[in-house]
This record gives sequence, structure tokens and C-alpha cells, in this order.
Amino acid sequence: MGTPHPPAPRVSLASGPEGRHALRPLLDTVLGALDSGRAARGGPLPAGGPEAVAARVRAAAGVVLPEYGEPDALRALVHALAEGAADPADPLCAAHLHCPPLAVAVAADLAAAVLNPSLDSWDQAPAASALEALVTRALARTAGCADAVVTTGGTESNHLALLLAREKRGSGLRLVHGANAHHSLPRAAWLLGLPAPVRVPAPTGTLDPAALAETLTALTGPGAPRTPLLVAATAGTTDAGLIDPLPDIAALCAAHGARLHIDAAHGGGLLFSDRHRHLLTGLDAAHTITLDLHKLGWQPVAAGLLAVRRGGDLDALRHRADYLNADDDTEAGLPDLLGRSLRTTRRPDILKIAVTLKTLGRAGLGALVDEVCSHARTLADLVEDHPGLELRGRPVISTVLFRPAGAPDDAVAAVRRRLLTDGRAVLGRARLDGRLWLKATLLNPRTRPDDLAALLKLVEGTTPR
Ligand SMILES: *Cc1c(COP(=O)(O)O)cnc(C)c1O
Repeated sequence: MGTPHPPAPRVSLASGPEGRHALRPLLDTVLGALDSGRAARGGPLPAGGPEAVAARVRAAAGVVLPEYGEPDALRALVHALAEGAADPADPLCAAHLHCPPLAVAVAADLAAAVLNPSLDSWDQAPAASALEALVTRALARTAGCADAVVTTGGTESNHLALLLAREKRGSGLRLVHGANAHHSLPRAAWLLGLPAPVRVPAPTGTLDPAALAETLTALTGPGAPRTPLLVAATAGTTDAGLIDPLPDIAALCAAHGARLHIDAAHGGGLLFSDRHRHLLTGLDAAHTITLDLHKLGWQPVAAGLLAVRRGGDLDALRHRADYLNADDDTEAGLPDLLGRSLRTTRRPDILKIAVTLKTLGRAGLGALVDEVCSHARTLADLVEDHPGLELRGRPVISTVLFRPAGAPDDAVAAVRRRLLTDGRAVLGRARLDGRLWLKATLLNPRTRPDDLAALLKLVEGTTPR
């Protein structure tokens, strides 16, 4: 007789016949802890700054891997996370492209977690892979494209766009991007070992076509080496929500034989709106388009896409692994999924997207887009009418840049940090025109004009005079 083993703990599975009965009380625990955590927080962000938050998390976590399990862990840790959350559902949490997710999308994501399909092979995800094929193509078509792959967000989409361009045009590919482009673009060039990107000035916050023309002429003119070029334009800059002059940029790319990528991680959601879609005119000239439905799409993270103009444009991602897509399996009719991502194991993020599209419809999503754009105009009006505040410019999407009039940059930065530390408001920051601005990115359709007035009052009350 050896040493007796400790009894196996009683665990329940989320799926199978017991799943529903196991999950129901756990969901009640989660919903209760989310509420109690939110109440304990009492604002958009926990008060007290990083040390106070970390101390509360340490206290709630206790021993991270105890010898024997603690059944209260779910309640305690969810409460701690909710208490210490930056809550995008609070109207005063408006720093980043960090949206409050729709309840229906989160409910769908629960089903995705329960069923746990993995989209690297058909035998792990028969229906999920068929749904992904349908929905990615339908979404791609709304952007004038043929197909799209699901990604973890704009960063991975931009990376893939550069990879596909390199595979088409060669390893000497040179990225040309505006100074306003997302940092993930030059980083992707670095990651892929491409030549150093060319950065074109964007003095007003959008890519200047005259400067781009000059750059492309210098790179492609007589005497210049034949360098394959990829121009990246932005539809919805992260800092200011501005849209590059897409038709002008597309014409320059055509004239100079450059490939065009449009990073619409932020602005892509405007496609749903009858009122705002015209802002994306020229989008369909792109070879690849980055979209991100965890921004203007109200999805829980992650919900990124990279759309490609033609069906075969994804062929460069084809890959074989005998255990996932053996040739004889593919010949016998099993769909080959491995080429639809660089990842292997991959969650069905498409389910929450599909459920959202169908539940709200294009018009419903468009109405949400219109709503947040209208909030931004209201906030801009309030700033313009306020003698102590300066507005950088009228919002194009739902980002508003403003600052206390006459304040030095370090005072502007201090206002933001004071509000964060007190847990009273979450504003972002952006450096444009050589000055530091406070950034409000309005993505909460529930925000009311009173909330926006309260936000400005907080800024006013925090500004040293
Ligand atoms: C947010 C953003 C990205 C990065 O997207 P992630 O989902 O955070 O990876 C890329 N480009 C632009 C313009 C963005 O706003």
C-alpha cells in the first residue's frame, strides 16, 4: 500500500449535459460580484492610484496557488477585478478606443467559451468555421473587399497587411506611413525585418498628400532604385479620430505603383452608418483594410479583422501541418482552415460578431455610431462655449481634443493624472500641433449631455489657476 492520494476535487464542466446546471449558480455569483465590485468602486476608475489598487488586488488574491482550493475564489477575484476596473460603461471613462461591450455580444461570447471550438481545424470547429467563412466574407463586402481574416485587433491586422504586401512585392518592401499612423505599423515593419519605414509629415493630424506625392516621387523617380512600396493611410486616427484624404492617397498610390493599406481600426465602424459612411470614400481602393469591432462595434476584446480586396489575396498564409490539414483530408473534402490565421489554436470571436450584426442589423449599429458621433459634437459645443477651455477642432468621429485655455503642457498632463488618481474621470492625452491635449473618446451610447457637462466641470475644478 502506497501513500493514499488526496481525493480528486469535485469539478463541473461548462459543456455537456451538466453544463447548464453548473453554470447557472456560477453566473449568479459572477453577476453579483460584478455589481458589488462596481458599487465598491463608485466611479469610472478605482480611487487611490496604482499602489492602492495593487494592494487591494493582493489582499483579494491571497495565496495565488493554495495547497487546497478555495470555493469563494470566483466571487472574490471577480469582485476585486470589478472594483479595480476602468469601466467603459461609465460615461466618465472616455480615454481610449475602449468600448462598453454589448450585453448580447458578451452572452454570445459565453457560448463560445462553453463550446470552445478552435478554428485551426474543421474537426474542432465544424459550424464555427462555416460561420466564420460566411461572416468574414459578408463584412469584407461591406468594405468593398472579397474576404477577411479574424485577428486579435488592429495590431495583428496591420502586421498581416505588411506580411501580405511583402509576399506580393518582395522583401525589399518599404512602408510609407504618415506621422499620424498607429505605432503598430512601423513596429510591424521592424518585426518583419523590412527596411526602415519612410515617415511622411502629418502636420494637421492627417497625412498631407503634397508631402506624400513628394516622398513617392523621390522614391520612384528617375535614378531611384526600384523599391516596392506600401503606403499606409489611416481612417480614424487614434489620437484625434481624423481621416486621411483617402481618394487623394489612392490616386497617388495608383500613379506611383504603390500598394495601399488603410488602417480603419477606428473609423471602419462608420461603414454601418448612412450619415457617416461617406467619410470613408476611397476605402475600397485599398489592397488591405484593418477593421476592429472592439472599437466602434461594441464587442468585448478581441474582434479584429483584416479585409483583402481579392479572394486569392490570402493565399500567402497557406500552411500545412499533417495533424490539422493533411492533403488527403483536404482532398476528401474537409475544409482547410490553417491558412486563415497565423495563429494555431484560435477562439471563435466570430460568434459574438455574428450575433451582434444579426441582432442589431446594419441600421442598429449605424444608429449607435451616429449616437456617439453626436455626443462628440455636443461635447465640442460645450467646450466652445466654455471661456476657460480651448477646442482643437470639430470632431470627425467621436474624439474630442481640448485643453484648459492658456495652461502649460505639464499642467494639462497633471489634470489628467489627478482625475485618474482620484478615480473621478478617465481622459486620454494626445500631442498635436506641438501641444498636449486632453482626449475624450466617446464610445458609450448611454452617455447624456449632463455627463459631458460634469466631465468639463471636473476638468475645470482640477485645473490649477
Ligand atoms: C486601436 C488602433 C490600432 C490597434 O488596434 P488593437 O486592437 O489595439 O491592436 C491600430 N490602428 C489604429 C488606427 C487604432 O486606432
